[in-house]
Amino acid sequence: MAGNTNFIERRSCPVCGAARGNVLFDARYDSERVAAYLAEWYGQVDLAPLAGIRYTVKKCNECGFVFQVVVPAGAFLEVLYDGWIGGEAREELRDRYVAADYRYLAFQVDWILRYFRKPPREIAVFDFGMGWSEFLEMARAFGCDVAGMELSEKRVCYAQSIGVQTISMDELPEGAFDFINTEQVFEHLAEPRQVLERLARAVRKGGLIKISVPDGRGVERLLKRACGRPRWTRGELMPVAPLEHINCFTHKTIARMASEAGLRLARPDVLSLMQSTTGWLTPGELANNILRPIYRHVYPKSTFVYLERLAA
Ligand SMILES: [Zn+2]
Repeated sequence: MAGNTNFIERRSCPVCGAARGNVLFDARYDSERVAAYLAEWYGQVDLAPLAGIRYTVKKCNECGFVFQVVVPAGAFLEVLYDGWIGGEAREELRDRYVAADYRYLAFQVDWILRYFRKPPREIAVFDFGMGWSEFLEMARAFGCDVAGMELSEKRVCYAQSIGVQTISMDELPEGAFDFINTEQVFEHLAEPRQVLERLARAVRKGGLIKISVPDGRGVERLLKRACGRPRWTRGELMPVAPLEHINCFTHKTIARMASEAGLRLARPDVLSLMQSTTGWLTPGELANNILRPIYRHVYPKSTFVYLERLAA
């Protein structure tokens, strides 16, 4: 590990900073079971960068956060995300999306407009990890002022080609945005609390940050079961997927991280959610259009949350 710039070791809890924790799982990446899992997940890739590196999952004694201890960094991040994972091409995303997916994005934007009670042109939206700009394109269609950030060069180029402003983390202005979107981003970050603190400064007082991550409830049971099995099935360890889902959040640990960053959980009211869904009601689409958004927004323990920067 010493001198290896492809990985960093997180000695303290990335949410609360406490040093003490219990190891829930620990094995070398080149051990049979983990290597077999990686081969199934990534196909034929060169596992040399993982030599001597351990897949260790730890639970913080103080806040209960579950996280991977040794995580990708430096040049290996590019190998992992551009090479091994590759990411979905723009065309693949378009092939995959059905009308309900666009409606769901529209639902989220419509809800934002209702929440802020301002004309769309006065609402500045930033998407941290914007993907192929799908959320920003929808927000822009509603008249919002949009900007985004991505690590992938291809996605940055695409955003610029369709006129979406891109901003790097260093250039992020203070107090500039009403709404910051983060969709399936925080589970990948080596320093989630520091990033949230930075985003909290970029949002206006009274503004919102959305965090949506995989739900890590039950992960201890899942790991215990995985310990007793000689081979893992694809996706079995999803909430703590080796190398990728390095942070395993629950509603409780997101709330803890939010309070560390000076944010509080915002609870959208059911009426505004219902109003946002009006006009989409056909029986076949009920589940996608009504139940999913409402479940995600109202269910008190979910890992889809809006965090508010306090006005005071
Ligand atoms: Zn902690």
